Amino acid sequence: MPEQHLVRDRQLSPDELLRLDREHVWHPYGPMPGRAEPLVVESASGVRLRLARPAHGRTELIDGMSSWWSAVHGYNHPVLNKAVTEQLGRMSHVMFGGLTHEPAVRLAARLVEITPEPLRHVFLSDSGSVAVEVAVKMCLQYWRSVGRPAKQRLLTWRGGYHGDTWQPMAVCDPDGGMHQLWQGVLPRQLFVREPPVEYEEAYADELRAAVARHADELAAVIVEPVVQGAGGMRFHSPEYLRVLREACDAHDVLLVFDEIATGFGRTGTLFAADQASVSPDVMCLGKALTGGYLTMAATLCTSRVADGISQGEVPVLAHGPTFMANPLAAAVACASIDLLLGQDWQQEVKRLEAGLRDGLAETGALPGVREVRVLGGIGVVQLDHEVDMAAATEAAVREGVWLRPFRDLIYTMPPYVTSDEDLARICGAVTAAATAG
Ligand SMILES: *Cc1c(COP(=O)(O)O)cnc(C)c1O
Repeated sequence: MPEQHLVRDRQLSPDELLRLDREHVWHPYGPMPGRAEPLVVESASGVRLRLARPAHGRTELIDGMSSWWSAVHGYNHPVLNKAVTEQLGRMSHVMFGGLTHEPAVRLAARLVEITPEPLRHVFLSDSGSVAVEVAVKMCLQYWRSVGRPAKQRLLTWRGGYHGDTWQPMAVCDPDGGMHQLWQGVLPRQLFVREPPVEYEEAYADELRAAVARHADELAAVIVEPVVQGAGGMRFHSPEYLRVLREACDAHDVLLVFDEIATGFGRTGTLFAADQASVSPDVMCLGKALTGGYLTMAATLCTSRVADGISQGEVPVLAHGPTFMANPLAAAVACASIDLLLGQDWQQEVKRLEAGLRDGLAETGALPGVREVRVLGGIGVVQLDHEVDMAAATEAAVREGVWLRPFRDLIYTMPPYVTSDEDLARICGAVTAAATAG
């Protein structure tokens, strides 16, 4: 077995890595083998990814993506490294059934402290999609437990994204998105049209009417508050969250906020729900939870939901991932939250917002560009056509920046530690990508 030999005995060259990658490794949202060759990252530090082999003349790229919203403090951060290493010296993992540990307890208490008021109980899982699965399970089980099993459907607005496992897929945008293939197979959920950017009373009425009409079969309304991420990078008025809260209260429907992308300051407030001073019954967190270090997500709920479930016919929440509450992830999550809240993070996100507005001010006038929008640490350029991924990515790499466009969108959500200079380069790269793609 010469191949195994090769993998075991020595470091692989970039060429060998790419060959084996192509042969064996599946990448996100791709065919097997992949069509485009990935870049090999050797290490990362601060906001920079270091490549194993130069790409278009660059060996280092400024990360404009925060590794999909997560690496808000940048890479190889001494404080986060220390948290992981110290925890590693104690234990990397123990099962969570019948056992508990300080990192998990501290994290749960901290999350309850910083999230909106009535959220009180925390279920820790290993990825955002699972956190959404758990949220849906909580809501459906709540209604079963209190004797209303007909309430088992979900309502959301179009243009959303909630993850790639089964229940989350069913509330992702049913048309534009990646999950169109599964129409007719997925549970059929209820959709209202995409929320308008500005507050419109007519749309608020549509939301109220939809909740009222379907109240008897609705377990919950689930939405991404203020920013719809991977479903289309659209923003909407926080007022709609208040409308949903009132409609859900009036008609006995639970409200779930998926803050997996928006949590931990990205939109300018710690949680997007804070912009409307609205509290959901269930909240999902992930992505930046561990500062991008390790995979972990959380589903928080109120005592009403927890009590309902725990006093039902089957008085348990039947969910328990093997790596639930992983101590390494919990320890680094605690450190990441302390790091964030121990600085003037609002100021940093404002600085990013101003830099993005400034750096993308002219981009909207380019041919092929439909719209430029900025909110908090998020900058989006929407084209009037499907982006040419290869051309757009190459243009960004030539500028020394890592971007990952999709559909008609070239966007960036840089780490909060990105300097003004690096931010200007990111904006330059977004613009170059918009021109090339
Ligand atoms: C990324 C994302 C998810 C899924 O999280 P994974 O960790 O990728 O499973 C769910 N909801 C939202 C809003 C997201 O942005």
